[in-house]
Amino acid sequence: MCIFCDIASGKIPCKKVYENDDVLAFHDLEPQAPVHVLVIPKKHYDNILAVPKGTNLMDSVLEAVAFIQKNFALESGFRVVANTGKDGGQSVEHLHFHVLGGRNLGWPPG
Ligand code: 5GP
Repeated sequence: MCIFCDIASGKIPCKKVYENDDVLAFHDLEPQAPVHVLVIPKKHYDNILAVPKGTNLMDSVLEAVAFIQKNFALESGFRVVANTGKDGGQSVEHLHFHVLGGRNLGWPPG
């Protein structure tokens, strides 16, 4: 069972922000910034390294990110993060990109 597969299939509801053939974007349940949207591939990949070479996924991810930047007025900047593995802080094993913005984000991350 994968919670993000269930969200992608509509079995579990989400606050949808954007969708195209390959990806779905929705608000994070526990936002860490005024804007915190997750972009997930509809197809299951455990993490960024599990995407097979030649998969045409990033164009769709970038389309979603551009939509989020425009629609949430993130002209002054934002961050895209793909936490990967235990030390990377990944808690859901379905590839996802956090798009965070709406405040000055600190660096380095914790
Ligand atoms: P990770 O920790 O794997 O980088 O990020 C997983 C993210 O998914 C977390 O920010 C968490 O708040 C979010 N999340 C977990 N379960 C759900 C859910 O059922 N719905 C939504 N919208 N977000 C979720």
